[in-house]
Amino acid sequence: MASSLRLHLRQAKPDYVDLRRNDSFARIRLVSAALCSGLALICALALPSSFASRTSSNPPQSAPSPLSSDRINWESIKNEAVGLLSRYIQINTTNPPGNELSAAKMLREKFLSNGIPAAVIETAPNRGIVAARLHGVGHNDGTIVLMSHIDVVPADERGWKLKPFSGAVKDGEVWGRGALDDKGPGVIELMAMVALKRAGILLKRDVLFLATADEEQGGRQGAEWVVGHRPDLFADVRYVLNEGGAIRVLPNGRKYYAVSVAEKNPLWVRLVASGNPGHAATPEAETAVTRLIQALYRVTQMQPQINVSPLVEDYFRRVAELQGGPSQWADVRSALQQNEFREKFLSNPVNNAMVRDTVTPTVLVGSDKTNVIPANAYAELDCRLLPGDNPTEFLKSLQSTIADDQVKVQVLLNSVSPASPTSTNFMKALEQVAERQDQGVPVIPVMSTGFTDSRYLRQHKLIVYGFNPIEITPELQQTIHGVNERIGIDNLVRGIQRMVMLLEVLGD
Ligand SMILES: [Zn+2]
Repeated sequence: MASSLRLHLRQAKPDYVDLRRNDSFARIRLVSAALCSGLALICALALPSSFASRTSSNPPQSAPSPLSSDRINWESIKNEAVGLLSRYIQINTTNPPGNELSAAKMLREKFLSNGIPAAVIETAPNRGIVAARLHGVGHNDGTIVLMSHIDVVPADERGWKLKPFSGAVKDGEVWGRGALDDKGPGVIELMAMVALKRAGILLKRDVLFLATADEEQGGRQGAEWVVGHRPDLFADVRYVLNEGGAIRVLPNGRKYYAVSVAEKNPLWVRLVASGNPGHAATPEAETAVTRLIQALYRVTQMQPQINVSPLVEDYFRRVAELQGGPSQWADVRSALQQNEFREKFLSNPVNNAMVRDTVTPTVLVGSDKTNVIPANAYAELDCRLLPGDNPTEFLKSLQSTIADDQVKVQVLLNSVSPASPTSTNFMKALEQVAERQDQGVPVIPVMSTGFTDSRYLRQHKLIVYGFNPIEITPELQQTIHGVNERIGIDNLVRGIQRMVMLLEVLGD
C-alpha cells in the first residue's frame, strides 16, 4: 500500500498542492484530493503508520489565511449556511416541549446530501438528536465532538423587531430565536464539516457532530440520554467542543477567545416547612408559612466564603490587561482582602458569582386561599457551587443555617462536574486559530457561571471546552434568551472559517 500511495502522490495534479505548506499535512490533503472522495477513506485507512507519525512530528506552520480557504468555495458555503440557519430557526423548537425531531431530520439531510454519514436518534416521541461523522484517516488521535443543541428557549414576539421564528434575512443578519443559542453555532459546525468534505480534506481524526435535544430544560431527553444510552459514540473521543464561550468583544474593542473550561455546579433544593393547618382567623404562633419565611431570612443572610481559584484569578488578570484595569484585577485574590475593593467588586453580580457559591430563592408556594393556613409551604433555592466545592458539606451548612427541624431540605438537582485542563493540544490549536484569523488575540480560559450539557460529558471524564467561534459584543449577549436574537452573516461565515481551521490544525 505504501508504494501505491506514493504513486497517487506522483500522479496528483500539482495545483492541488498548497505551496505555503510543503509538509506532510499538505500531502495528506493531496492524497484525498487526488482520489474521489469514496476512495479517499479506503486509501487513507491503509496509510502506513510511519506516515501518520511523521505527520504528527511536523510542527504546525503559520499562514496568514485559513489553511484551505483557497480550496473552499466560501460564497457557496455562505449562501448555504444562511439558508440552512434561516430554515432551522423557522422550525419552532421551543422547549418545552422541544419537538426537535423535524429539525434533527433537516440537519441529517444536509449531511447525507453531502456524503457525510448521519443519523437521527429518537430519545422520546418527537424528540431527536442528530449524530454525523466525518471520517478521518483513522483513530490515532481520537475523535473531536462538535456539540450543539437543537431546542431553544421560548420567545414572546412582543418587543422583537422581526418575528422570532421568521428566520428573516435582513441587512446582513439572520434573525430569530436560536441564531446565537444554539442553532447558529450548530450550523457553523455542520458547514465546517461540509466544507472540509467537499474540499477533499482528510483529517487525522474523526469529527463527530452531535446536536442534542432538551438542553434548555436540563438535557434529560438529550445529552443525559445520549451519554447514558449511547456510550459507544464517545468511546474514542479526545475533545468535545460545546457552547459556553465565544470571542468576547470588550467595550474598548479589544477581543479575546473566552473558552469555558469549568462551570459552576447547580444544586437546586426545595425547603419544605410544615405546621398545623387551620383557619387564618385563629392562627397559632408559628405556621408552615412563618417557619418558611424565617428559614428564608436566615438563608439570605448566608455569606458564602470567597474562594478565588487560580483559573478565576488568571481570568481577571488577563482581562484587566486587555481593558486597561482596574489595577486590583492584576491580583484579585490579594485585593479582595481590602474591604472597600471587596464591597465594590462583589456588588457586581457576575464578579460575585465568580468567586463564591450563590444561594438564590426563586420559587415560593404557600396557601392558595387567603383565609387558610396550609399544612406545608415551600420555597426553592437555586444554589450554584464553585467547582471543587462539596455539595454534601454545603447542604449540611444550609441545614444548620435554617436551624429548624420542621423545615426539610429536599435536593432537586445536584450535578457535579470537574474542570477540563487548560494546557492541551486543543487549547494550543485554538491559539493558532486566534493567531491566524484574529491577529493573535489571547485565548483565555474562563469559568462559566451557568451550566450546559458539557457537565454530562465532563462527568464521564471527557475533556470539554465551551467555545463558539463567533464574536459576541455585550449588546449581542443581551439578545441570548432575550429579544432580537440574531447573527451577522459575516460573523457566521467567519465562524465557519475559524472552525475549519481549528479542525485542520487538530487533524494535522
Ligand atoms: Zn444554549
